Amino acid sequence: MDTSQLAKFYKKSHLEKINALEAAGVINAEDAENLRRDQLDLSKETGDHMIENYLANYSLPFGVAMNFIIDEQEMVVPMAIEEPSVIAAASFAAKIIASSGGFTTAVSDRLMIGQVTLKGIDDLPAAAETVLSHKEAILSRANEAHPSIVKRGGGAKNMDVRLLSEDDSDSPTFLSVHLHVDTKEAMGANIINTLMEGIAPYIEELTRGTALLRILSNYSTECLATSTCTIPVSKLSTPQFSGDVVRDRIIEATQIATVDPYRAVTHNKGIMNGVDAVVVATGNDWRAVEAGVHAYASRSGQYRSLTKWTKNEAGDLVGTLTLPLPIGTVGGSIGIHPGAKLAHAILGHPTAKQLESVLASVGLAQNFAAVRALVTEGIQKGHMGLHARSLAISAGAKGEQVQRVADRLKEAPHKNLAAAKDILNNLDK
Ligand code: NDP
Repeated sequence: MDTSQLAKFYKKSHLEKINALEAAGVINAEDAENLRRDQLDLSKETGDHMIENYLANYSLPFGVAMNFIIDEQEMVVPMAIEEPSVIAAASFAAKIIASSGGFTTAVSDRLMIGQVTLKGIDDLPAAAETVLSHKEAILSRANEAHPSIVKRGGGAKNMDVRLLSEDDSDSPTFLSVHLHVDTKEAMGANIINTLMEGIAPYIEELTRGTALLRILSNYSTECLATSTCTIPVSKLSTPQFSGDVVRDRIIEATQIATVDPYRAVTHNKGIMNGVDAVVVATGNDWRAVEAGVHAYASRSGQYRSLTKWTKNEAGDLVGTLTLPLPIGTVGGSIGIHPGAKLAHAILGHPTAKQLESVLASVGLAQNFAAVRALVTEGIQKGHMGLHARSLAISAGAKGEQVQRVADRLKEAPHKNLAAAKDILNNLDK
């Protein structure tokens, strides 16, 4: 990638941005031409095949976050999101972090979990023992249910059992059989559901119970990605505060988000601003990622911050984020949606593990930007500056009026729709 083409990207016009991405080698000539012609949408025919009662496409703005260095590789990160300031914040944070070496990531094996949960078993401990003693037979029946994933080197790799009570008591009611499945490049929901439906009759036979549920778990605790960054205090100072004060404030703010769920939810929402935008852009199932991430934030029994910010011996700020990331680079709508295809191309056609590294790094960048702003100048200055354009459009501004209204709105005491309408009405007076 020739990053010199991408300098001051945000200052370029729409056409210049597309040209720069092409010149830098981030997108090819065909993708550049499609972008120039505004051709990123699904065809009606494809949309009609994708969902039921299809009427039209519902668009989201698609853009790119800049300045990311992840595991020593420069990356341009595609995002689909309606909220202003997320891309700016990610790019800002990534620039500071890049200047101190970028993000380092570690990705676990990609094992997804499937569950067959049975009811009506008289002797649950004995049934659990029977299932465990038939582990190899169950694994091979699971793999026979989806031979193509086995040919790709994946498939059911392990199994365990859990006894579940119908309430919070200690006395169990249900038996849950877990398969740990390597779904390779796919997120794997459909693959796993096929496996679980495939083994359920055999497990019913073994336990004399009834399989009530046969589906993947979206709590993918064996598909984790961690991103880390180290930022010297010299990169943290603001006009108001010295670097070590900003570092300590970021650490303290994260301590609050670790103990207080009211703060933790907002703290983690900020992380997901970036993560979801990339998950959506790459055609992945954001509901699955969201559900798993928030369960993971509660794994201690209390909902807590997903990031950790500490200082090392040199006094640098060190950030870490671990997320469960059940995403794929194939399957679902990834190969169908033109926007998702472009997003994968912008990322250089990453493997699922590489995409996990990007997602964890984007989440960490987003969190750094948000917490840094919160503990220094406050979040509204940057956010409302960018939100002003949305307010101008809502007020009815068109073309060059949008920026003019937004510029005046930034100076107004109240930055709201009424103020934007007022400015628009008086624009040329
Ligand atoms: P698919 O059903 O599309 O399956 C992925 C397919 O990709 C496989 O069947 C496989 O084909 C093919 N493939 C090609 N190359 C590879 C490779 N290198 N590694 C792995 N597979 C490869 O998608 P998923 O099973 O991933 O399921 C994801 C979809 O399921 C999403 O759309 C999600 O929204 C949805 N879903 C989610 C649920 C949930 O989260 N609770 C529940 C139900 C559905 P082949 O057969 O040739 O191996």
